[in-house]
Amino acid sequence: MLTVLAAVILTNGKIWTGDAQRPWAEAVAIEGNRIVAVGSSADIGRNGTVSNPERSEGSATQAREGSFANAQDKDTVIDLKGRLAVPGFIDNHTHFIDGGFELSRVQLRDAATPQEFARRIGEYAKRLGPGKWITGGEWDHTLWNPASLPTRQLIDAVTPQNPVFVSRLDGHMALANSVALKMGGVTRDTPDPAGGTIVRDASGEPTGVLKDAAQSFVDRVIPAASTDERVAAGRAGLAEAARFGVTAFVDMSGGSGAFEDLRAYQRLEKSGDLTARVYLFAPILEYQRMQSAGVEKAFGSDRLRIGGLKGFADGSLGSATAVMFEPFSDDPKNRGLTMQAITDGRMKAAVTDANAHNLQIAIHAIGDRANDEILKIYESIPNVRERRFRIEHAQHLNPDLIKRFAADRVVASMQPYHAIDDGRWAEPKLGHERARWTYAFRSLIDAGATLTFGSDWTVAPLNPILGIYAAVTRRTLDGKNPNGWIPEQKITVEEALRCYTANNAWAMFRENEIGKIAPGMFADIAVLSDNLFTIPPEKIENAKVDLTIFDGRVIFERTP
Ligand SMILES: [Zn+2]
Repeated sequence: MLTVLAAVILTNGKIWTGDAQRPWAEAVAIEGNRIVAVGSSADIGRNGTVSNPERSEGSATQAREGSFANAQDKDTVIDLKGRLAVPGFIDNHTHFIDGGFELSRVQLRDAATPQEFARRIGEYAKRLGPGKWITGGEWDHTLWNPASLPTRQLIDAVTPQNPVFVSRLDGHMALANSVALKMGGVTRDTPDPAGGTIVRDASGEPTGVLKDAAQSFVDRVIPAASTDERVAAGRAGLAEAARFGVTAFVDMSGGSGAFEDLRAYQRLEKSGDLTARVYLFAPILEYQRMQSAGVEKAFGSDRLRIGGLKGFADGSLGSATAVMFEPFSDDPKNRGLTMQAITDGRMKAAVTDANAHNLQIAIHAIGDRANDEILKIYESIPNVRERRFRIEHAQHLNPDLIKRFAADRVVASMQPYHAIDDGRWAEPKLGHERARWTYAFRSLIDAGATLTFGSDWTVAPLNPILGIYAAVTRRTLDGKNPNGWIPEQKITVEEALRCYTANNAWAMFRENEIGKIAPGMFADIAVLSDNLFTIPPEKIENAKVDLTIFDGRVIFERTP
């Protein structure tokens, strides 16, 4: 019998480990911040003794030998009472600091009418006081009937003294009020920039909606958040992550604020408040800042890493800016909006050089043609090392593209919640044949591609359980597809869990540290209220995280 000075023991659980050696277990022993044993409840005893376990070699037992007499008092035994425990969720695509900010900003996501939209902005302006910017929002005009874009006239009267620039939830367009348009210098004479559109009314006046690159007219006059404000946003985001069992995430912020966010994350780490493992990606066109600093992929500490780069190939389906081989079915002249860096060759040059300097690349591609463009760039680069190239969203594919994801070992970084959200309105835009290859989870797994999951928070909710529900059921949010939208692309609970754990760890170059419950791995674990494997799939969305353990410490406990 071995003696392990476990600080925390989880027992009597149904533990899905994600480890092929032992997929299911009842008990876990944690010593410090590592898992040291996984086995049956009988194997892993109450007073820290472990018989016949799977055990990591060279664990920290020795260092704590002297305190063994007190071990029984010190151990925390958590009786799971038959509940499901899984590896701490990993979210492979967030805009995390933005998410933290959003928690304190005006909430427009569920504003179901233009009147409600205006009312909330007006109320928020009153609370904020004159002169302050109103941003964020995450509005969704597809909830409105008819689904027309908002205009500055809708909100001007309630925001005479506040500049407003509120974003659609996909981030590909935003509405400015007249104050903000003026500050951004946008008039009827301002030409559309490359890769962007200033939406205008019949008389040629800007309506206030700015699409893609046109958003920069206003973005650039919004004062940047201070480091203290970013730290506070990070803290708010981390509390939200703990509540949802998220113990690691990729921050795809990708904007020019990425290096400022890095400063905020460093402060959170130093103060001991970084309760998740972060991998921060910076804008690909600024890759030389990383390269000249000597940074390579996945560089950093146990909790904070950098070395990833994020770029864009196209826009979004909702904004009809995704780049497609064929025009949108409801817009026969429109094949989407290719980012300038793709057409002028800067993207290919940046990917090639950054990869040569061992940085990791992730590029946003929604439309089938955008995915093809990026795969072509990836395929043009000699495969001399493990690159783990990523495509973010990989939303509208075809059989040829799916095969190439597998053959090139490109990470398909997808967000299942988008499928049940977009599924409400995507089919008329795509036509049925193209829709079959939309959010093609089943086809990607069957082809042998690496499928990974994330939320795209703030575009969608951070909660991974909603993502699992979406991938398993494909039931659209409007309730119109009870058996699933494109049901042949559904996947199983176990597959979805793997996409939220081990596969994401691989995409972050951390498969030996996180994403599984196995000896030697970091002790990052989520305990759920319900067993996702046995409840009816349509009930998965109601399951909650009861307990989150991060780095061997309980960081969240749900109060019923
Ligand atoms: Zn995103």
